[in-house]
Formats: sequence, structure tokens, C-alpha cells
Amino acid sequence: MLFHVKHLESASFIELDNCPLCGSSNHIVYLSTQDYFLSGEYFKINECTVCGHLFTNPQPTGEHIGKYYKSDRYLSHKENPESLFERMYASVRWLNLRTKYKQVTAGLSGGKLLDYGCGRGDFLAIASGRKWECIGIEQDEDARKIAEKSHNLKVLPTNAPVDTFQSQFDLITMFHVLEHIPDLHSIMNNLNNWLKDNGRLAIALPNPRSYDALHYRQYWAAWDVPRHLHHFKTETIIRLAGQYGLQLKTVHAMYWDAFFVSMLSEEYKKSKLPLIKSVAIGFLSNFNAMRSKQFSSLLYLFSKSD
Ligand SMILES: [Zn+2]
Repeated sequence: MLFHVKHLESASFIELDNCPLCGSSNHIVYLSTQDYFLSGEYFKINECTVCGHLFTNPQPTGEHIGKYYKSDRYLSHKENPESLFERMYASVRWLNLRTKYKQVTAGLSGGKLLDYGCGRGDFLAIASGRKWECIGIEQDEDARKIAEKSHNLKVLPTNAPVDTFQSQFDLITMFHVLEHIPDLHSIMNNLNNWLKDNGRLAIALPNPRSYDALHYRQYWAAWDVPRHLHHFKTETIIRLAGQYGLQLKTVHAMYWDAFFVSMLSEEYKKSKLPLIKSVAIGFLSNFNAMRSKQFSSLLYLFSKSD
């Protein structure tokens, strides 16, 4: 019998012995999944038996991770949508951005805004026309150039010196970014330092407890290994933020994510009638979450002080 399993080169990966959130060495295999998006390689998702955090294991090293982002199909950075799915994604994304803007700025009257992992700057473009002084941070050079050229935004690379950021921001946003960052403690420490005393931190994350996650299991597109290194439950993101003096204020549903994620998951499963099935699962996910609050993605708003 032939097994078509792609073996990982050990020098390019780090096998984590300890939970990246609480440091415990006690963890179990929660799920085995595959990089359906690009490489086809297999990865485990481990669950810490102390704090419950889910994390991809092994994880690519800093030098090796870049190869997993090298695809035209990485929609968040795509400039010219072509297929029906990409065009739908682009138009719904615009509506989604406006909803997110209203949710994260509710009760605030403007000020200084940092979007960490701003991609091509579409969110900042909305905010910059509405009383916000905007700065972006983005690792991908092509996305940075698009943000600067199309929206005239100030966007820095992740390794830029940011000494002037101390206590500067009224609002910091991270839309589907924290799950990509290896060192959670270093980033949370920075974000906390960069916020003003009464500042707000908005973090959007996929939810591994959602109906669509439980339905698609290993095919759930939001596992997105090995690009997603962390898979936060509500209690694990609250625990991490709490260690840095950030308190949860509100949680918002992200309704559209159930449809996007279901559509990709059906593609990964090579289903027949993927569009019909993904719309059905998207509706079911949102419907179930009306009661359980376990939406496909959740947007958490934290405050630096109360
Ligand atoms: Zn842990």
C-alpha cells in the first residue's frame, strides 16, 4: 500500500514542547489536518490540558514561514478578483469592512488608530476619512505598496523601529492577524505599551468552537495550517489579554465569515454542489450561534483600563 504523506523537513520546523500561552508541557493531539490551501503538508493541532489553548505543532521557523504565503490565491492580498467566488468575496468584504468599522469605533470620537497586519489598507482607508489619524503595520511588501499607493496611507513593516509608539493609540485593530504571530507574549506586550491608558484593542479571530468548525472538522478552512499558529477559544484570548491588563468589554459576531469559511472548506473537501452546501452551513452556523454565541469568527473588544 502506498502512503502519500508529505514529510516535513525537520530543520524548517520547531516542535513545541510547551504551550505558547501558559507554558505547560501537558498537551494532547486535538486534530490532525492538512495545508489544503497550498503545500498539502500535514500538521497536528495540539490542545493544552492546563489552559485549553489550541496550537499548530510543529510550527515553521521564522525563515521558513514565508513560503506558505507565496500564492496568488491569498485573497486578502488580491488586487484584481477574477472568479465568481473572488468577485463575491470582494464585494461582501467591502460591506464587512464598514460593519467592522462601526463595531470597533462605537462610542469613540476619533483619534489615533493603528491597524496591525493591515494588508492592503482597506480598513484604514475607511477610517482615515472619518476623524482617525491612521497608521498601518504590514509584513507583506506588496500589500504595503498597494496600501501606500491606492490609499495614501502610512504603512510600516513589522520590523520597523516603533520607539515613538509608546502610549500613542486610542485604538489598535487586528483583524485575523494574532493567530499568525508566533510569539504571543511579545506582541501583546507591545500592543499594551502602544495603547493610551483608556485605549481599546480590537481582535478578530476564527472560532474553533463554531458550528462550521465542528461540522467540517479537519477540513475547516480556518485551521489554515501552518499559517495559523494559534486557534483561540474565548477563554484563551481573555486569559492572554488579561495577563497584559486588557479587559474584555464586548464580543461581536462576524456573520459573513461563516459563509467564506464554509465555501473554502467545501472546496477543500472536494464536495459536489459546494455553493449550495456552503450557504446552507453558513446559515446553520449563524443560526446555531444566535443561541450559543459561537459564531464562525468573533470580534473581541478589550479596554486597557476600566
Ligand atoms: Zn496552556
